[in-house]
Amino acid sequence: MRILLLGAPGAGKGTHAKLICESLNIPHISTGDIFRDNIRKNTFLGIQARSYMEKGELVPDELTVAAVKNRLEKEDCSSGFLLDGFPRNINQAGNLNKMLSDTNQRIDAVLFMEAPDKLILERLTERRYCSKCGRIYNNKFNPSEVEGVCDSCGDVLLQRKDDKKEVILERLAIYNKTIKPLVDLYNILGLLHKIEVTNNIEEVFYKISKTLEAV
Ligand code: AMP
Repeated sequence: MRILLLGAPGAGKGTHAKLICESLNIPHISTGDIFRDNIRKNTFLGIQARSYMEKGELVPDELTVAAVKNRLEKEDCSSGFLLDGFPRNINQAGNLNKMLSDTNQRIDAVLFMEAPDKLILERLTERRYCSKCGRIYNNKFNPSEVEGVCDSCGDVLLQRKDDKKEVILERLAIYNKTIKPLVDLYNILGLLHKIEVTNNIEEVFYKISKTLEAV
């Protein structure tokens, strides 16, 4: 199955992407994770992406599309994948469409995770991640058992640089400007499924599972 996950930063895309991918046994491809990984490794892509990400801006399409193309060509994507955080604008959607049609593939479902801005802000400022295994927590809604320590691997929990309030506001402004045309596009194509987000992870995942079963 080939799935796209759309939604504001903090809507829970990362958390649900992991759950969906485990249940369908498909790779989770997050452009944000690809960039963060490249920044950690100090690659050429990482050096280029860093300044945009730290300001909350989008990394230029040329770089982003090339990174996704490279990832989708890997063997593990041949029978399906979930794209999280891509496409972020109409140009990227067009490029994705071309990549897939060139290899006789098509998107099966686009999940649009809808959440009010207030909930998003609350979640992002309290979001923490494990510096080792990447597990995501929220100090308020999904805390680790011991504050600041990962339940899975015991490593330290950190806050993403772009989860600071000024950067979040910039990311949300960009998101709100670019999401509507994408939602309209996938709606017209009959692929869009709206998932209303709440703070209850099980409830949201249940809605997602039911939606995917019906595709
Ligand atoms: P995310 O982890 O999806 O919230 O993405 C974190 C940051 O990575 C974004 O604020 C952008 O700077 C960059 N990024 C992730 N995905 C994309 C994309 N599809 N296009 C451009 N920039 C992206």
